[in-house]
Amino acid sequence: MRRILVAGNWKLNGSLAANAELLDGIIAGASADAPVDLLVCPPYPYLAGIADKLEGTGIAVGAQNVSQQASGAFTGEVAASMLVESGCTHVLVGHSERRSLYGESSKTVAEKFEAAQAAKLIPVLCIGETLEEREAGRTEAVVSEQLDAVIEQVGVQALADSILAYEPVWAIGTGMTATPEQAQDVHKFIRERIAGLDASVAEGLRILYGGSVKGSNAAGLFAMADIDGGLIGGASLKADDFLAIANAAS
Ligand code: PEP
Repeated sequence: MRRILVAGNWKLNGSLAANAELLDGIIAGASADAPVDLLVCPPYPYLAGIADKLEGTGIAVGAQNVSQQASGAFTGEVAASMLVESGCTHVLVGHSERRSLYGESSKTVAEKFEAAQAAKLIPVLCIGETLEEREAGRTEAVVSEQLDAVIEQVGVQALADSILAYEPVWAIGTGMTATPEQAQDVHKFIRERIAGLDASVAEGLRILYGGSVKGSNAAGLFAMADIDGGLIGGASLKADDFLAIANAAS
């Protein structure tokens, strides 16, 4: 049985004051007994402070990006080992904004996935198609290419220590959520593709859905057989909205 995970991607948002208010609200409202795991992914400078604040709450901390390099002359980069020292257990890799705005190829994303795991971080691998690709009937080809690059880099077994997030680019930050059926179709396809290589890895792997998830649509999405939680952008920035999604998982 896969536990539901609700993960918040704060993107380039936050301040010391806003983070404290948001986290106080989440801590106060989250139930330790709920059958749902929570993860927050703030910007780099806040990670260590937030990890301290969340210690003992059961809420995990992840980064939004990581370097594929371990150390050296890579100005502006942050290594996986540094994220671990900052209290992270997870890291997003391959978010569509990293792919489209910062030119990260599937090969680079695969290298980041590998670097994260080498430091014992759990990578949350984001994959998904653009609207143009969906309309051209290329959704399965696109997610396969993004997934296969990681499998080629690290092998299918490595997916056992990771999380996937299917995020159709057309649904991110647009208010256009995929219907539960549209999302389920792709999640099922992804799981079956992995099962073709290793059935037990596929069965245990959590595949989150991301793209305009809110309290009002989360329950329908999380009820689908192959949807194991959500990666939440906009609605992770207000405690009530984030908790409404977490509650939908219960
Ligand atoms: C995201 O950035 O991963 C995301 C899903 O954003 P939103 O929930 O705002 O669509």
